[in-house]
Parts: sequence; structure tokens; C-alpha cells
Amino acid sequence: MSEPLSEPRSEPLSPAPPPSGPLLEVSGLRRTYGAVRAVDDVSFTLAAGGSLGIVGESGSGKTTTARIIVGLERPDAGRVLLHGRDRTERVRGKAHRLARARQVQLVFQDPFLSLDPRTAVGAALRETLRLHFPGTDHRHRVAELLDQVGLGSKAAEALPRHLSGGQRQRVAIARALAVQPAVLVLDEAVAALDVSVQAQVLNLLADIREQTGIGYLFITHDLGVVRCVTEDVVVLRHGRIVEAGRTAEVLAAPRHPYTRLLLDSVPRPGWDPQRIAAARRAL
Ligand code: ADP
Ligand code: MG
Repeated sequence: MSEPLSEPRSEPLSPAPPPSGPLLEVSGLRRTYGAVRAVDDVSFTLAAGGSLGIVGESGSGKTTTARIIVGLERPDAGRVLLHGRDRTERVRGKAHRLARARQVQLVFQDPFLSLDPRTAVGAALRETLRLHFPGTDHRHRVAELLDQVGLGSKAAEALPRHLSGGQRQRVAIARALAVQPAVLVLDEAVAALDVSVQAQVLNLLADIREQTGIGYLFITHDLGVVRCVTEDVVVLRHGRIVEAGRTAEVLAAPRHPYTRLLLDSVPRPGWDPQRIAAARRAL
């Protein structure tokens, strides 16, 4: 059952962030679809400029959590505070909704789905910039963004189908960065890429975080990715957090059998799929 929606309210367009406290604070998130508890009492915090991994197998509630944080979905219960302000409350008016949308941007697995096949890269970026910052000429900003993601300004003329998977994902990242978000939510953002391209995009994301101080929520089923790019991690299973902590510590000495199972499921020499299947049944 959903809780009744609170009354719409207005809020200032550019609230001054308080100087201290976490960047993003998620508490008691719940979302149910029929009998499925997709997200069940999920809480965590992301520090300013930090990178938090959310891991778990398919169906563990990662995407639902992401969609609630971004604002594409409303929780049945719980809060999502950004700079101490609740993002799940209704706001009135397009300008306020856009301002809130800018704060948290989503990059997901398949950039082909999020890019219009008939719109050139530069035009797509200009469209986003015009929506959020009308009345300005964005040509320089487009070149700057393409530069920032390592594509170069010549890419502005390209259509999505002219680009490789890695290049398209760079465009998706540029478009997310265009609105200067405080948080980037990356939902399996490198999962579809070849391993070498994956490494390039992960390096790019690390550079961007260093340069901008943006915070990342890194959602993935891949513990190798988590090891590379996050400081903290939460492990989700059936919508619930089974383990959370510093990434290095959780991966070095997992406390929960499910985390151990995820770690053991990574193929490596001596890997025994039958033993893993047995461990899964025993969980
Ligand atoms: P993950 O991203 O970890 O694979 P999801 O958040 O997509 O997990 O899904 C968690 C659970 O919620 C799954 O059982 C999924 O089938 C269910 N679910 C997600 N979205 C919907 C929806 N819109 N309608 C019904 N069930 C959903
Ligand atoms: Mg998912």
C-alpha cells in the first residue's frame, strides 16, 4: 500500500546547501509491486564527492532504488535527502521540477535506448542545455562537454549509430553532466561494454569525479567494477541490505554468506560452478 501523497509545495530554486552532512541520505526506502518487495527498508548515505556501490544479483532491487533516487518512481515509504532536502516530496511548477531533476542524473546500461537515433550528438546536448538553461548559446558548452568525456568537438556532428558503444556511453555521460548534477547514478552503465572499453569509461568517470567533486552511486552486479571505483558498498538481496561497509573491507572479508557467494561467483582459476550452485541453494 502506498502512503497518501503529501501536498505539493514550492521550494526555492537554488537552495544553498548546508556546509556539512552527507550529500545524499537515503532512509527506510520501500517499494512494493504487488506481492514483490522490490525495495525493503533500504538506507545508506553518500558523502560529498564519494562513490558508493550498490551490488546484488538481477532482481535484487538495484534499479528500483535508482529510479526512486532519481525521481522516476515514488517510494511507498522512506526518504531521499539531497543536501538535507527531501526529493520524494511533490514540488509545484516546471522550473522547480527541472531544478530538482538536475541535481541527480541517471546513466543506464544501454545508451542506444536513451539517445534519439535521428539527432546528432551536439544537437542532443544543446537540447538538454536549452531545456534547463534557456536563452543562452550553448555551442561552447557543447564543445567543452564533448572534450570532458574525451570525444572531441568533432563528435557533435555524429549520429548515435556512427558511434561505438563506448562512445555512446560517453555521450550519455556528457548529457548527464551538462546540467551539473550533484550526484550521478550509474545503473549498470558499463555492463554492456567490452572489458577494455569498460576500463576506459571507468577511468573517465574517476577523472570526472576528481575534477568536479560529483558523487556517484555505482549500481552493478560486477564486484570487479565496485572494487575499482567505489569507497563504500551496500549489498542488496531481495530488496534488503544484507551487508554494508567500506568496499575494501567488505570484499576482503565479507560477513554475509550472500556477499561471499557473489564474490565466489566471479569466474577465476579453480572456479567451481557446482559448488556455487550448492551454496546458493543453501542460502
Ligand atoms: P535489479 O535492478 O537489481 O535487477 P529491479 O529493481 O529491477 O532489480 O527489480 C526488483 C524486483 O522488482 C524484481 O522482482 C522485479 O521483477 C520487480 N519489479 C521492478 N520493477 C517493476 C515494475 N515496474 N512492476 C512490477 N515489478 C517490478
Ligand atoms: Mg537493474
